[in-house]
Amino acid sequence: MGIKVAKFGGSSVADTIQFSKVKDIILADPSRRYVVVSAPGKRFDQDTKMTDLLLLCHTHLMNHLPWDQLFQVVCDRFSAIAFTLDIGADKLDLQAEYNKIKHAMEDGAGSDYIASRGEYLSARLIAAYLGWDFIDAADVIKFDERGRFLAEETNSILKEELKKHEYAVIPGFYGAKPDGKIKTFSRGGSDISGSIVARAAEAEVYENWTDVNGFLMANPKIVKNPKPIRYISYQELRELSYMGANVMHEDAIFPVKEAGIPINIRNTNEPDHPGTFIQDKTPQECMGVITGVAGSKNFTVIAMHKYMMNSERGFMKRVFSILDSNDVSFEHMPTGIDTLSVVLDNDEVGNKLPDIIEDIKRTLEPDMLEVYDDIAMIATVGQGMTYRPGVAAKLFAALAEQGINIRMIDQGSSEINIIVGVAGSDFEKAICAIYNAFN
Ligand code: ASP
Repeated sequence: MGIKVAKFGGSSVADTIQFSKVKDIILADPSRRYVVVSAPGKRFDQDTKMTDLLLLCHTHLMNHLPWDQLFQVVCDRFSAIAFTLDIGADKLDLQAEYNKIKHAMEDGAGSDYIASRGEYLSARLIAAYLGWDFIDAADVIKFDERGRFLAEETNSILKEELKKHEYAVIPGFYGAKPDGKIKTFSRGGSDISGSIVARAAEAEVYENWTDVNGFLMANPKIVKNPKPIRYISYQELRELSYMGANVMHEDAIFPVKEAGIPINIRNTNEPDHPGTFIQDKTPQECMGVITGVAGSKNFTVIAMHKYMMNSERGFMKRVFSILDSNDVSFEHMPTGIDTLSVVLDNDEVGNKLPDIIEDIKRTLEPDMLEVYDDIAMIATVGQGMTYRPGVAAKLFAALAEQGINIRMIDQGSSEINIIVGVAGSDFEKAICAIYNAFN
């Protein structure tokens, strides 16, 4: 029987009810042998995530403000779950754990240590609840002195450790440096831990349990009831996440992608839903023309035209060096024979636009230069578009029918992506038009 690694996010372990759903899911399939958990997340909109509470404790401590009561809120949340699930001190001595954390904080443990305790206690609780082994991530997930994740060392240590446990729970989000100090991944990093465990376990699938039924073909805040995506390739996912469609941490893809392990995004609140499979290739029979459409606002496009631009040596190089000297990176740079557009993220540009324009005019002397500072970029993504004629025509016709003016077009060399730039005010209308044209 293959092994499944199941990672449960913050909303899946937010309270007692969620804990019992998690238990049912785990026990429903004996091949779910390794479980990775986040810290409890929000129970309702105005609630605070456990990790944020812990970081707040640390901020108070650093500023010599009282933090006991805040920490008590953390303890009370865990104790309430333990009490309701009948996990007594014989199974898990929570008071001893709280004392250890308090002492470590008083002794100057860093913010990473404190932030990680949500995952630590969450995993301890789940392990006690299931009667499974607990593996501390500090013993198996390794970083170097400078805090860089050590993928290969971790993989061999973790592989050996997993062999000793038929069933085990591992906290997400953190590991340790050579001196034993706790180091966390960036926020949302339990997804990465799950992926690392899946690789070490040589799992047949990495299940990532969250609170949505996987990916949808479009943002449900823009398109009404968009269809779910059953299969998506790693590359398509990368393109859609870049445009803001996000369900999991981007860095979680690499370990399992390398190992050829599919990721299955599932919903803890709807466990019978098959969710989305992220894998190398979508089965041919399940492949639609497009897989999804996503976008984001807040871009600036600098469009220039210069007669004989194509034969002017070093033109591109000068564009790059202008951006470089203004310390701005670019998002896209579609080119024509005598035209070139530079797409910049407005957050990146800040107040540097006048300087960039001035430099371009002086150094490149374009015949025409236009600047659109409120552009939305929309990516229509799908493996199914490759070699299929008429996709672009359909997309552009759909936008034209809605009276939407396209300010920029870019198609990646992989042909799985057509990116258009439209006015920020046309963003939602354009997303709906594209989605409807292909559904
Ligand atoms: N608890 C951490 C966070 O809130 C990590 C995670 O949930 O993945 O970012």
